[in-house]
Amino acid sequence: MDFKVATLLKASSGHKKLESVSSTIEVDWSEFRCDVDGSVLLTKTDVGVWVSACLSAKIGRQCGNCLDSYVESMGLTIEEEYFPLVNLVTGERNELEEIDGDNFYIGEDNVLDLSDVVRQYASLHSSISSKCMKYCKGLCIDCGINLNKEKCNCRNNKKNTKLAALLESFRPMN
Ligand SMILES: [Zn+2]
Ligand SMILES: [Zn+2]
Repeated sequence: MDFKVATLLKASSGHKKLESVSSTIEVDWSEFRCDVDGSVLLTKTDVGVWVSACLSAKIGRQCGNCLDSYVESMGLTIEEEYFPLVNLVTGERNELEEIDGDNFYIGEDNVLDLSDVVRQYASLHSSISSKCMKYCKGLCIDCGINLNKEKCNCRNNKKNTKLAALLESFRPMN
């Protein structure tokens, strides 16, 4: 999700550029791909570039209950300022007061990479529990069938199970 912003960085404050996004990134809480689409408005500020993005992300995930894969969709509204590491006019490194992990930077190649911020926002919106649907029935603990898709007879055959035998042993004597 790279945007070349050299021209924008040379422009005066308030200058805008509209970009569209259609990209795939990796997120560390899912082994599947994450597709990101939408639009990004880049605005030159006094010191950097303000990013206003309206994106939709579709993250492939695996249901922790039935182990089926499903897609988690979410809308992401991003508002962040990016600071250039290098002054484009003088070619010198910018003396940024505080370089810390909370800020986003434009690399020395004048490319603004949006993927880190998208990852951060997506991880905040992503649900911690991975469930394909609210009432996922999961797998049958006896035969392993996906109960969302098929039915099995295990529950009807419970009489043979240890639990049934245990219940039997607790029957009051008469
Ligand atoms: Zn499921
Ligand atoms: Zn079963």
